[in-house]
Amino acid sequence: MRAAAPRGLCTDCGLSRSAAPKQCGTACQFIQPDYPALEARVHGRARDPARADEVFFGPFRRMLRAKLAEPKPGAQWTGITTTLAERLLATGAVDAVLTMAADPADSWRPMPVLITKPEAMAQARGMRMGYAPLLALLEPAAAAGHRRIAVIGIPCQVYALRAIEESLGFERIYVIGTPCSDNTTTENFHVFLKLLSPRPESITYLEFRADYHVELRFTDGSRREIPFLQLPISKLPGDFFPLTCRTCVDYTNVLADITIGYMGGEGEQWLLTRNARGEELIGLLGDALITAPCGSRGKRASSVRGFLANVERAAGGLPLRAMPDWLRPVMGWLMPRLGPRGLEFARTRVEMKAIETVLHLRARHPKRMRHMVPQHIWDLVAAYGLAAKPGERKEG
Ligand SMILES: Cc1cc2nc3c(=O)[nH]c(=O)nc-3n(C[C@H](O)[C@H](O)[C@H](O)COP(=O)(O)OP(=O)(O)OC[C@H]3O[C@@H](n4cnc5c(N)ncnc54)[C@H](O)[C@@H]3O)c2cc1C
Ligand code: SF4
Ligand code: SF4
Repeated sequence: MRAAAPRGLCTDCGLSRSAAPKQCGTACQFIQPDYPALEARVHGRARDPARADEVFFGPFRRMLRAKLAEPKPGAQWTGITTTLAERLLATGAVDAVLTMAADPADSWRPMPVLITKPEAMAQARGMRMGYAPLLALLEPAAAAGHRRIAVIGIPCQVYALRAIEESLGFERIYVIGTPCSDNTTTENFHVFLKLLSPRPESITYLEFRADYHVELRFTDGSRREIPFLQLPISKLPGDFFPLTCRTCVDYTNVLADITIGYMGGEGEQWLLTRNARGEELIGLLGDALITAPCGSRGKRASSVRGFLANVERAAGGLPLRAMPDWLRPVMGWLMPRLGPRGLEFARTRVEMKAIETVLHLRARHPKRMRHMVPQHIWDLVAAYGLAAKPGERKEG
């Protein structure tokens, strides 16, 4: 694999390692994204603010709570993502899948892999923290003669893929996306693990769940649940989350054919089919997939306002305001009971991320805002009194 070209805001999606690294200039989410144009090309239309929830989650046909009737061992949730790819390979719909496996030297480090056998999808199950050059496998896939492929990616990878898709010459590309937020380098993630346990090397699984708890699993099979409020977030160094991951503008992977997350799932997975190909993908699972309508409870405004106040401090270089120790257990108990749930939880998180984008970019790279912050971010933050300052928005 070629070395990555030096770039400013960059999550090394792999494009700068291709034979045409200059494509970054037009294909990068962090330079001059054009979501409406790509949404229209991929889904037949851009997100429609008049349709319920599209301003938050992008264009979609259906949103569902879902789980596999038989969860897959090693999966992050029940394994819908890797099972879809497995079925695509088994039915011959694709010849190869581009995704991440765990690096043999560090099980938390993502390592791009090209998989051609359905049974080999098992190695991709589970979440790794960090980013790795997934799209650097596009050229090897084409060179190996694969004509129909699937790509499983996080939003910054999927944006670049969609931007160059038509020039790649594949007959068909299925795009399976997961949401992504608060990612960091694998090195930084190890710092976090050390704060969570005296035996960080024994942690095999970590997930931020929609019930306001982080779930940890350990090598001996034990589990631990930590309320969000008791996480050692205020002990993390100020640069723990790279600026890319604090300012990216697509939480829910709006350009994927199908998005598979958990935020709107109330303890189950959360699916958004975005176009006909996304529906085709769900169809591959047949009776193996159990679905239910999404629910929504609670009100997000006060949580989002509290978050905004904290981000204002952090973006201004001040430490995060930690809640007093005596209040944490009380709030830790109350939040899952009173806080936003289901789709309202997903809206809460999407709005919080939009606020981070505006405030962190304004503090660190104000000149980039004009090109990097799309209209949908301004629409999301407007309710909280944030608006573009002169020069921060492209007019027309
Ligand atoms: C860094 C990160 C942050 C996330 N944050 C959220 C969130 O805030 N809200 C939400 O609803 N969902 C989030 N997700 C998605 C969620 O954790 C699950 O991956 C998703 O719900 C699929 O579950 P599953 O059981 O179907 O996946 P599995 O069948 O276990 O498959 C997981 C797939 O994800 C791929 N993958 C794992 N790690 C990475 C990585 N670092 N980069 C690229 N691909 C990877 C694997 O290769 C595999 O194909 C995040 C995922 C990542 C990687
Ligand atoms: S397109 Fe990918 S490799 Fe290029 S600058 Fe953006 S994230 Fe980095
Ligand atoms: S948080 Fe955003 S920029 Fe960071 S890895 Fe995830 S999608 Fe990419």
